[in-house]
Amino acid sequence: MSGWVATRGELGRRQRDFDRDCARLLAEYEGRGGRIFCGRGCRACCTLTVDCSFGEALLVAEAVNEGLGRALDVYVERLRERLPKVADLKSYLRMQRRELGDCPFLDDEGACAVYETRPFACRALFSTRPAEWCGVDFGELPAIEKELFMASLDRTVVDFPTHYLAEPRELARALEGAGLLAMERVFGFSLAGNLPYLVWLEKHYALSQKCVEGDAAVTALLETEGLNLPFVLRLGKAPA
Ligand code: SF4
Repeated sequence: MSGWVATRGELGRRQRDFDRDCARLLAEYEGRGGRIFCGRGCRACCTLTVDCSFGEALLVAEAVNEGLGRALDVYVERLRERLPKVADLKSYLRMQRRELGDCPFLDDEGACAVYETRPFACRALFSTRPAEWCGVDFGELPAIEKELFMASLDRTVVDFPTHYLAEPRELARALEGAGLLAMERVFGFSLAGNLPYLVWLEKHYALSQKCVEGDAAVTALLETEGLNLPFVLRLGKAPA
């Protein structure tokens, strides 16, 4: 497991550096008169699909206690029930928000129970609009309201068409990519996907140990156990 020890150590350092860089970016943005609306207790963005590398999911898995584990089981059961009816990525993202709802890692008070180890995708969301906009299902919004909202966004700072600050998200995507490359270097392949599902695979199938045996062993496990679900997993192979 020494490969994972090194990968996790590197990831922890990258997360700390990322938080420091984001604090600087936010201070610069606010110094130019911008405002970020995120605040303690706000969880409207925790209904969005969270995609991350398997290494990031491993850090979260270490923070999942018994109570969160039960919520995770319920989430994955509902996810697996619904996925066979999902035809494309857009429908998957919509189903996630409308039918699965909150992330299973929210605690009873609505705070992130895995805050210290949450993935880059969560760390990178800084809302330039009030929290209610983070909970809006744009597929249900009247066209005129959607147009007005889009027109109100400052495209020089947001990750358009979202209202989240662009620079942290760009940095997060680069770091996710670096994490996947690090996994390829160590194990010869990379794995990414839906955060709760990856954590569930680690909890129930010790997937990190299977990774040490290589991508063929991981694929065999997923296929044998019927776990290779569409949209929620991405297995990448390092070029030969
Ligand atoms: S991991 Fe934490 S911050 Fe990310 S969606 Fe879940 S509860 Fe929210």
